[in-house]
Amino acid sequence: MKISNIKIVKDNITTITCSGDAVSGRHPQIFLKVNDEDGAVECYYCGKRFIQESMVKKK
Ligand SMILES: [Zn+2]
Repeated sequence: MKISNIKIVKDNITTITCSGDAVSGRHPQIFLKVNDEDGAVECYYCGKRFIQESMVKKK
């Protein structure tokens, strides 16, 4: 699985909708809840990873 497919989201975003994209492939729209612990969530359809921006800056 490619880990380059990452999308940064705002810190106040806790629920993400994903329906894929042209690169990863389209899929039905689903809702993903960001984990409180790591501020990130991965789409189980296309493998895209969503990370809250404050979590990115910390690293
Ligand atoms: Zn997806």
